[in-house]
Amino acid sequence: MTPAPVSSRPSDPAAPAAAPSPNRPSLAVPPLVGASIAELTDWVKEQGQPAYRGKQLHQWIYQQGARSLEDISVFPKAWRQTMAAVPVGRSQIHYRAVARDKTVKYLLKLADGQIIETVGIPTAKRLTVCVSSQVGCPMACDFCATGKGGFVRNLSRAEIVDQVLTVQEEFGRRVSNVVFMGMGEPLLNLDAVVGAVRSLNEDVGIGQRNLTISTVGVPGRIRALAAHQLQVTLAVSLHASNQSLRETTIPSAKHYPLTALLDDCRAYVQETGRRVTFEYTLLAQVNDTETHAAELAGLLRGFQSHVNLIPYNPISEVDYRRPSGDRAQDFLEQLEELGIAASIRQTRGLDADAACGQLRASHLEVDSDSSNLAAVD
Ligand code: SF4
Repeated sequence: MTPAPVSSRPSDPAAPAAAPSPNRPSLAVPPLVGASIAELTDWVKEQGQPAYRGKQLHQWIYQQGARSLEDISVFPKAWRQTMAAVPVGRSQIHYRAVARDKTVKYLLKLADGQIIETVGIPTAKRLTVCVSSQVGCPMACDFCATGKGGFVRNLSRAEIVDQVLTVQEEFGRRVSNVVFMGMGEPLLNLDAVVGAVRSLNEDVGIGQRNLTISTVGVPGRIRALAAHQLQVTLAVSLHASNQSLRETTIPSAKHYPLTALLDDCRAYVQETGRRVTFEYTLLAQVNDTETHAAELAGLLRGFQSHVNLIPYNPISEVDYRRPSGDRAQDFLEQLEELGIAASIRQTRGLDADAACGQLRASHLEVDSDSSNLAAVD
């Protein structure tokens, strides 16, 4: 795929370019990606340039894909050369894997050499990006390749927004949706995630309702997110129909009982007016029986929500298996009969190491084996 600048705002009326929010926290720039017009204007003024250069800089970063100030031909040549070393905040594509269904999984190399995963998922009408919020993850969920690899560090606002710009440029079309479902627990990196959400909305032009933040649950953080009054969708990863089963697959659940988690979800709905979706990874013979379906329905009865059933993508480190298509369908039908809105999420990119963290893990293994990993770019 040829990188292409994407120069127009989205035509989707659900994704208007919003006015800058009054409570958007200011961060030090550079890096420049993720910064608002106001922040960029302040920065160019500090460099002795006229204020209107802030708007030009904003256009070149978000619409023309500038990777260096040297690229910005409307700036005076002498200033461009002086500022050539200022970090714009763009990553490099280290590797890309393309699945038969055109889903593309990228390994992106950050300024400090860390590698993260980002996925571009195209359909006729949408281009969805699954972004990472951390390098690795400390939550250690038992079925997850990222969780098995441990935690390295949080991503910055710039590093999150960069992932979306990268996929947009790669596909040469507007990104319509962003899901925070890649590596990491977004609510453990709340400031950067909220900053990125505001930038994706106000600078990149993606409607807040087209953004989804996913969490396995961190005590206090769902209410903290709700206090930001964003219009994003909250997707809560349940993956179990009762507390003891949840503790076996999600160790952090010991500190956050299901009853408290669901109370916080109700508070989120009340505070934001947005619906919560529940993610439920179907693990064969572990959480996919009729008893589990009945238990799950009991847990969510009366809750305005939707359950996404996700048949598991197996990883080599553990013995969990993917249920058959018929078993997943039976589970779905049982939930629906019990009055719970649910659907089975189509798995995209199964032939491109689809499970979260799988591609990165396999490359880190190759790297440490040979210390000579061949990258695509
Ligand atoms: S499933 Fe999500 S929260 Fe759990 S270890 Fe993996 S990346 Fe972290």
